[in-house]
Amino acid sequence: MTVLTGARERRVRTGGVELCVAELGDPGQPTVILVHGYPDSKEVWSEVAPRLAERFHVVLYDVRGHGRSTAPRPLRGGFTLKKLTDDFLAVADAVSPDRPVHLVGHDWGSVQSWEFATVQRTEGRIASFTSMSGPSLDHFGHWINKRLKHPTPRRVGQLLGQGAKSWYICLLHTPVLPELAWRGPLGKRWPKILERVEKVPGNGGYPTSSLPTDAAHGAWLYRDNVRARLRRPRTDAYAHAPVQLITPLDDAFLSEKLYDELELWAPQLTRRTLPAKHWIPRTRPDRLAAWITEFVTSVEGGRPRAVTATGKYADRFGGQLVLVTGAGSGIGRATAYAFAEAGARVVAVDRDAEGAARTAEMSRLIGAPEAWAETVDVSDEQAMEKLAAKVAAEYGVVDVLVNNAGIGLGGAFLDTTPEHWKEVLDVNLWGVIHGCRLFGKQMAERGQGGHIVNTASAAAYQPSRALPAYSTSKAAVLMLSECLRAELAGRGIGVSAICPGFVNTNITSTARFAGVDAAEEKRRQKKSARLYALRNYPPEKVADAILRAVVRNQAVVPVTPEARGAHLMSRFTPRALRAIARLEPPL
Ligand code: NAD
Repeated sequence: MTVLTGARERRVRTGGVELCVAELGDPGQPTVILVHGYPDSKEVWSEVAPRLAERFHVVLYDVRGHGRSTAPRPLRGGFTLKKLTDDFLAVADAVSPDRPVHLVGHDWGSVQSWEFATVQRTEGRIASFTSMSGPSLDHFGHWINKRLKHPTPRRVGQLLGQGAKSWYICLLHTPVLPELAWRGPLGKRWPKILERVEKVPGNGGYPTSSLPTDAAHGAWLYRDNVRARLRRPRTDAYAHAPVQLITPLDDAFLSEKLYDELELWAPQLTRRTLPAKHWIPRTRPDRLAAWITEFVTSVEGGRPRAVTATGKYADRFGGQLVLVTGAGSGIGRATAYAFAEAGARVVAVDRDAEGAARTAEMSRLIGAPEAWAETVDVSDEQAMEKLAAKVAAEYGVVDVLVNNAGIGLGGAFLDTTPEHWKEVLDVNLWGVIHGCRLFGKQMAERGQGGHIVNTASAAAYQPSRALPAYSTSKAAVLMLSECLRAELAGRGIGVSAICPGFVNTNITSTARFAGVDAAEEKRRQKKSARLYALRNYPPEKVADAILRAVVRNQAVVPVTPEARGAHLMSRFTPRALRAIARLEPPL
């Protein structure tokens, strides 16, 4: 039974086996060959292939011994990379005899595709290669050797880290045991394990009923190749086609560090990352299809690098969905632009419709492949619920959420009315709570990780007689971020609290002041605007700190020098900070 509806099937004979090959889409278009991993069959691509078939001639095959392809006899020695390369060439010759093909591999499909893309005899047959979650065994071998020969503490850490993720490879090398496990309890439970641990949605006839046999045969992929190649890696394993590397950040089996020096082996390299676990063909088919389409199209058009975004974090955020609140001005707008520059898809949320629309429009011009404006008041629970439902339905689950919308309120505590308190807490605290609750839940349910950034303030840890309500709201945001960080850590979702100091934005001209009349409020707004302009710290630098915080998964990030200084004082000399808190504000 195939779950690839509408696929045309044929058999290709090669080296004593018969491969089951499925085709979708127009054979006149560029050919994309999808190679599955372990323990899978071609149906792992059933969500990706139809999306690609809208533009390309898509070809999938069951690797020998898997799905409905026959197995070599004997099994031992029947799965060497050399034989797998013969199979690939036989399929490529059958489906696209005159034009090079675009190769896409996941897991072991990628491991073997690295061989295809680096051996001489396939030169001219491969137009591009998209690799996900499967390194070249040769590159891996050199990576290990380098760390063993020059073991700095960092390198030893990297070795141990990858070693801890590779335990199953040793198990697969034991005789008979894996076969018994897969044909017995493991085979039965695998779909549930995938669902529970990897958050692979349980639908679409995947995994197929051939799983126990696929897994038992596939153990020979490891036994026939891993030890031999890691011991004696090829020294000429250079990619002869442009490579797109897609790295899921929460992969239980592979460390990102494996690819640190990949440019040495694949000079025409495009890197992409996304918050996800190992089985991305099942969990992120939309994103993969979009990236493969973009890459193949750019290679066909003579531009081997698909990344159009130029921002310094383009590798990290390209194609990701980022939602920023308070994006109509200041720090929020600069943050939306920084993500757009990195090629992210941006949802700009603000209660100011015009401001949000402008940010979305500029984001598209700067490099966001898509950007939308949403007019929402973050303090409005129902409006936020509607926004969360709309975003999930129309744009997808957010990868990075930036709860940034906020308002300023100055004035002594005794002058601050309950209405003032409500206004500032509703926006600064409840706005963040709604965002975390609604979008954080979607992230957690998707189960593929993500990141939440909350804009707090240096006022969160620096007391002052001038800003009691504002500081209280920001201290709450800081603590909320810390608690949430602890709660979501196990789900691969990072949480960062950003604490800017004085940043030159519009906040000063819209801030309210308690205990003064309208004219005095205006005067103070103007004065503080002048002071902030004099300080002149640009919001772009805060935006940069926000992107860095996501990349490094930092917990608390004081940004300006004064914010950093106050942070140190709050830890080491809190009495001095308390003394400063008593000073009259200069307004
Ligand atoms: P800003 O006034 O330039 O931008 C804030 C944006 O948030 C505006 O576009 C505004 O329309 C929007 N907004 C306000 N209330 C909203 C609501 N209820 N719903 C939706 N959108 C709303 O100010 P900024 O300086 O860029 O501030 C951004 C964040 O940074 C705030 O949380 C602020 O407290 C924090 N912050 C700013 C400074 C600073 O010096 N500028 C320092 C520390 C922290």
